[in-house]
Amino acid sequence: MIEMQEVYKKYRNGVTAINGIDVRINQGEFVYVVGPSGAGKSTFVKMMYREEIPTSGTILMNGVNLAKLKMKKVPLYRRNIGVVFQDYKLLPTLTVYENVAFALEVIEASQKYIKKRVMEVLDLVGLKHKARMLPNELSGGEQQRVSIARSIVNSPKVVIADEPTGNLDPETTWEIMKIFEEINNRGTTVIMATHNRDIVNTLKRRVIAIEGGKIVRDEQRGDYGYEN
Ligand code: ADP
Ligand code: ADP
Repeated sequence: MIEMQEVYKKYRNGVTAINGIDVRINQGEFVYVVGPSGAGKSTFVKMMYREEIPTSGTILMNGVNLAKLKMKKVPLYRRNIGVVFQDYKLLPTLTVYENVAFALEVIEASQKYIKKRVMEVLDLVGLKHKARMLPNELSGGEQQRVSIARSIVNSPKVVIADEPTGNLDPETTWEIMKIFEEINNRGTTVIMATHNRDIVNTLKRRVIAIEGGKIVRDEQRGDYGYEN
């Protein structure tokens, strides 16, 4: 469902962040993207949620070529992708409920449906009881739960996470990983860039290692493979 063919990405400052990638990821897979800092992991996942456009090559997401996607079609495309960031990126003046409901308000879902669906995903991340709180009243782990709830509220086929546990302590990290596993168990593809060697080595999944903008390793049930 995700296929990259001969993908290159050179930034305007001349840095080649992705230097010829061919890869295929099927629906329902759980994929870790690992590699040293500056290897190109973020650029790799940013191209999947159309935050960056490849300089050349093809990126097919369910048949849509992102390299050619018209600007006006980007919002529609993004609705079908959940994205989770290291720094949560919640809207600070909106409550937990409103942050999650936002994506559904945009598509003009009925208030009745929005309420049902928002409470359903808040329940999944264990935060139903904090629906009325503001992000700054929550711990980091709780804020990340909200951002995960936001990412899945539209029932996307794929969730992309860039270092989602990078700011969290080990215990909270495991709680967050359980949620991603649950999301994946329900059939959603999960693609996660991470530096967390414990997670990768414990929750054995496909590992794609990137170095110097190239895939240097791609293993089912792989290891982290770096000393950190
Ligand atoms: P735009 O998408 O408009 O080019 P960016 O946010 O990608 O804007 O980058 C703005 C400028 O900052 C660019 O000129 C880029 O070279 C520089 N820049 C941004 N992020 C990085 C980075 N991680 N490493 C080096 N330069 C960067
Ligand atoms: P990683 O996520 O593995 O740390 P990145 O994809 O962020 O790697 O970066 C790969 C390379 O591209 C690095 O050399 C980085 O400085 C550069 N880079 C990342 N974003 C930008 C940008 N917006 N503009 C210019 N260079 C960038």
